[in-house]
Amino acid sequence: MNNQEKSEVQLLKEFQELQQAYESLKVSVEANLREHKRTEDALRQSEEKYRLLIENSNDIIYTLTLEGVFMFVSSAWTSLIGHPVAEILGKPFHLFVHPDDLPRCWTFLQQVIATGKQQHGVEYRVLCTDGTWNWHTSSIAPIRDEAGRIIGVEGVAKEITERKEAEDLLKRTHQNYETFFHTIDDFLFVLDDKGNIIYTNNTVSKRLGYTPEELVGISVLMMHPPERREEAARTVGEMLDGITESCPIPLITKSGIQIPVETRIFHGIWNDNPAIFGISKDISKIKLSEEKFAKVFYLNPSTCGLSDLDTGEYIEVNDQFYSLLGFEKNEVIGKTAQELGILTAESAKSILQNANSDGKLINVEADLKAKNGDIKHVLMSAENIYVQDKKYRYTVVHDITERKQVEAELSFNKTNLELALEASQMGSWIFHIAKNKRIFDNQTCSLLGLDRTSFKGTSEEFFEAIHPDDRQLVRAALKKNLEQKALYIAEYRVVWSDGSIHYISARGKLLCDEKGNPQMITGINWDITDRKKAEQELIIAKERAEKSDRLKSTFIANMSHEIRTPMNGILGFAEILKEPDLTGEEQQQYINIIEKSGMRMLNIINDIIDISKIEAGLMKINLKESNIDEQIEYLCTFFKPEVEAKGMKLFFNKTVPESKTVIITDREKLYAIFTNLIKNTIKYSKEGTIEIGYSKKNETLDFYVKDTGIGIPKEKQEAIFERFIQVNSGDEITAQGAGLGLSITKAYVEILGGTIGVESEEGVGSTFFFSLPCNPEAENKAIGQQQPAPLDTNDHIQKLKLLVVEDDEVSRKLIDSVVKLFGKEILHAKTGVEAVDACRKNADIDLVLMDIRMPEMDGYEATREIRKFNERVAIIAQTAYGLSGEREKAMEAGCNDYIAKPLKKEYLVELMRKIFKHSY
Ligand code: ADP
Repeated sequence: MNNQEKSEVQLLKEFQELQQAYESLKVSVEANLREHKRTEDALRQSEEKYRLLIENSNDIIYTLTLEGVFMFVSSAWTSLIGHPVAEILGKPFHLFVHPDDLPRCWTFLQQVIATGKQQHGVEYRVLCTDGTWNWHTSSIAPIRDEAGRIIGVEGVAKEITERKEAEDLLKRTHQNYETFFHTIDDFLFVLDDKGNIIYTNNTVSKRLGYTPEELVGISVLMMHPPERREEAARTVGEMLDGITESCPIPLITKSGIQIPVETRIFHGIWNDNPAIFGISKDISKIKLSEEKFAKVFYLNPSTCGLSDLDTGEYIEVNDQFYSLLGFEKNEVIGKTAQELGILTAESAKSILQNANSDGKLINVEADLKAKNGDIKHVLMSAENIYVQDKKYRYTVVHDITERKQVEAELSFNKTNLELALEASQMGSWIFHIAKNKRIFDNQTCSLLGLDRTSFKGTSEEFFEAIHPDDRQLVRAALKKNLEQKALYIAEYRVVWSDGSIHYISARGKLLCDEKGNPQMITGINWDITDRKKAEQELIIAKERAEKSDRLKSTFIANMSHEIRTPMNGILGFAEILKEPDLTGEEQQQYINIIEKSGMRMLNIINDIIDISKIEAGLMKINLKESNIDEQIEYLCTFFKPEVEAKGMKLFFNKTVPESKTVIITDREKLYAIFTNLIKNTIKYSKEGTIEIGYSKKNETLDFYVKDTGIGIPKEKQEAIFERFIQVNSGDEITAQGAGLGLSITKAYVEILGGTIGVESEEGVGSTFFFSLPCNPEAENKAIGQQQPAPLDTNDHIQKLKLLVVEDDEVSRKLIDSVVKLFGKEILHAKTGVEAVDACRKNADIDLVLMDIRMPEMDGYEATREIRKFNERVAIIAQTAYGLSGEREKAMEAGCNDYIAKPLKKEYLVELMRKIFKHSY
């Protein structure tokens, strides 16, 4: 720079000298122009020399007005900047100078103008024609007129771009170095050859707590703990001699805290003098991580090993290694796993297969062989680690031998459990409490009627499946389970999408975390629909049994009362009859009582037998085509004398055309139904009419039996169909029955598939109605069996030849007393065999009154035998049972009809009239 400045000054000086010379020359030439013509040439030569000097200079020579306008510019401008000189002249210099540099240039110019002294070295940028900026430096000096006034300035400018760039580079390099030096984490010391600090980086001052100034000049040993300074001095000496590489003595802060460092030193030059550079590396983090590693390694409950990656030899292993594999300490270090025989071939293969390209292995299951040959199941993880430039393999092994065993047992248990669940058709489920989510297996889904593919596990879905009446029950069971940690037990119904209801039994257990917070309920459920049904049936059966037991007791109590009453009448009055001085009228009266009592008892016994049969489920139905109209007409004929004897009327209100009256039903039961109802109307009416009728409605016939009798109170209308229920029990009329008739009637109607009911008003009358299904297929069919119509006269039956078959002497006498009125001849037989024999011998017998219960051959059998050779003879079965089923049996055997014992004259006459209707 000095050289450059000198040359500029020189140049300017030269220039001024030249200018002065020129001026003086010019003055002297002008003054002596004319006078000294011979000097003209010399002047011309001098001007030429001056011009040449200017034009050939590499520097720009210029003049400016006081306002800074170019008056003259040398051609160097063009070569350095690019503009032709003509373009520059007359233009202000600020058009070409960088705006940032303008103030400086102006000040520089003003100084020259103000002081009148030349100034040197202003630096500025000039705009080149190619748009770049060139650095220039200029020196300027004032221009004066003849009077010595400054009228402008003249200057010499030189391009210094390269220099400027070199300076910039140097500056930036210095800055970079400073930044680098001060931001580096390590402690950097620059020391003189005696070990005194010349310079430090910011890390030293900041971390050791000194100002940079405090550090300059003091011995670097002061940066170490006092007790180790000597050692430090020695180590530094050794390092300088190349004996030791680094110094491990820590640094100490101004406040006395030690920082573990590793220091290295180097020789160097600082400001042209020999110096020592010290670099202390903070190793506290490394120390920490070393400690951490040691802890992880030695205190690890898992087996850890560190081996040389290249040789595979163990460098270090922890205690777990020894206890797991049973080796002694001196047996392992320096040996490879292969040499120790730890790795089975399979494990080695599995390790190779599972390691990634960096040799990393994560939780790979492997088998290791202990020294004693035991196989240990382990989870192995390994990684290659680099400590400085050495490679090691760090292996961690977790013994899962026990876990494996437990897993195997668990899997065994799980399989067993699954089998058990499957075999018992149980489903399993989990309810995650926090997530409010349910996980159901297939079986649970199907038990609850849920579609597993669409089941999301929400509570809504679960409760939706439960029968609405049972949801609260399930919620309460869950709540109890959660709050009391009791077993979750619930039995509830679920409704499947097809509407079917199923019973589910569920058991569950609450699982908590180690703090006792409920986590989940896990449980099983199974279908108990069959059990529930069986339970319900049992309950019903039990209730029925209890009721039946109660009924039986009541029944027996009632029966003994019902039988005792007429029995008392019979025995009591039979006793009175023995008295010798009774009038004939009295005798007749008592006999009547005995007869009535006997009849009543017979009715009761018949009813009891029917009820017993109904109860025992022995009552069978015998469906046959039945002509309803004929049956009702027969009944009317049968009861007419009794009704009329009471001064009442009985009639059949026939509304349905005859052709429609054939239905398929049990005729005997229909008779019994009507008989019971008609008997009651007669019993419970004092006057008026009894009406029987029916109507057809769709597939049923609606029958009714209506009277104008005493009626039945509303509250009793339902109860009268129960056994032994009598509205006014104890009064005279009801005393004639036992309260069984309507319950038998109701049972019969129901057996035939119908219903029965009553409408009644006290004092006005009652209408009993019942419906029976009619069989449409039977419609319009003529009924084969003809019922006898009553005859006007009974003369013809008095000419009959009769056979009375009866084994009991008393009964035979009774029958004889009745039939003697009709028969012209009466034969007797005591057994079925005798009866058959008698028939064989007497082909002219008109009527056989056949007892059923007899020794050797019973009445049915005898009838069948007789029918084999005699179709014509009329046979009437007579039995003590008086049951409707007997009639059917008798008919089947070949009897024409049936009559209950004891024979009643009217019934027998009526029957005989019926049978012999067409015979005469
Ligand atoms: P009972 O042998 O007493 O007649 P039932 O079972 O036939 O037994 O009838 C039960 C009771 O119903 C009768 O005791 C009577 O009080 C009442 N009852 C039945 N039929 C009639 C009727 N047609 N009019 C009035 N009361 C009747």
